[in-house]
Amino acid sequence: MRDPKPKKSLGQNFLRDKAVLEKIIKSANLSVDDFVLEVGPGEGILTERLLKHAKKVVAIEIDKDLALKLGSRLRGNDKAEIVNADILEINLPKLIEKNTKIHLATNPHHLQERGDNMHSYKVIANIPYYITSPIIRLFLETKYPPKEMLLMVQKEVAKRICAKAGKLSILALSVQYYASAELLFTVPAKAFFPIPEVDSAIIRITRSKQQEIGSKEEAKKFFSIVKAGFSAKRKTLVNNLSSSLKLDKYDVEEKLKQIEISPNQRAQELNLENWKKLTELL
Ligand code: SAH
Repeated sequence: MRDPKPKKSLGQNFLRDKAVLEKIIKSANLSVDDFVLEVGPGEGILTERLLKHAKKVVAIEIDKDLALKLGSRLRGNDKAEIVNADILEINLPKLIEKNTKIHLATNPHHLQERGDNMHSYKVIANIPYYITSPIIRLFLETKYPPKEMLLMVQKEVAKRICAKAGKLSILALSVQYYASAELLFTVPAKAFFPIPEVDSAIIRITRSKQQEIGSKEEAKKFFSIVKAGFSAKRKTLVNNLSSSLKLDKYDVEEKLKQIEISPNQRAQELNLENWKKLTELL
């Protein structure tokens, strides 16, 4: 049987470059105890390499044909679980809980020995680019976030996510609020089939300690202030904040002064600390 045509609408560009694959595996730094979650395994090129190094790989694939094909190829490998589902619809906490239980049952001393928390796992994936932000947000905000994510994303998006202070967009802040983000290496479009229109890059997102992150309410307030700050590109920070949040302009100006930000600065010039302080003050 001939392979079905890759579905563009599902972001299907399959990695074909073995050298890139090896670089990903090396960067993943896997140990035989690692539980890995993969999004969009496709033809399974990465899945098979991950299985060689990890304790268990759960891969979630939306395309039924691909999921069936990979599932039957890996039948008999009890380290692999292929789930035919949409990553954005799945009950992620339930999936993690189930696997943690299995993990503990087979290795009861494991968690104490490694000092891990209950639900420690890594996300390693060449994800479908049309849902990059929702996927990242899902794993940052879920009940049991992964300790680390190694993701192939569009190069321009990778740069934006990993941007340094002075160039922080809403996207960068939405990741860096929870984690540190690092661009590891770029991957040319020709490493894939079909060849996509854009180059790619591998990024590593490492979750910050829980005490550095704060509560759900704080996060919510933080993001409403960030959104307000970025609301109109041409307007100054003070105008954006006061009009979007319906606050007194002079009051906002005063508070910006307290954190040593001048009222005519632009939102992207603020760093993460500035935004956090502003969240406390407003
Ligand atoms: N990781 C593979 C395939 C990358 S292409 C490789 O490197 O070769 C992206 C894959 O994500 C495709 O297999 C596509 O079917 C799958 N996909 C797209 N949307 C998805 C979704 N919402 N949930 C899970 N998988 C999805």
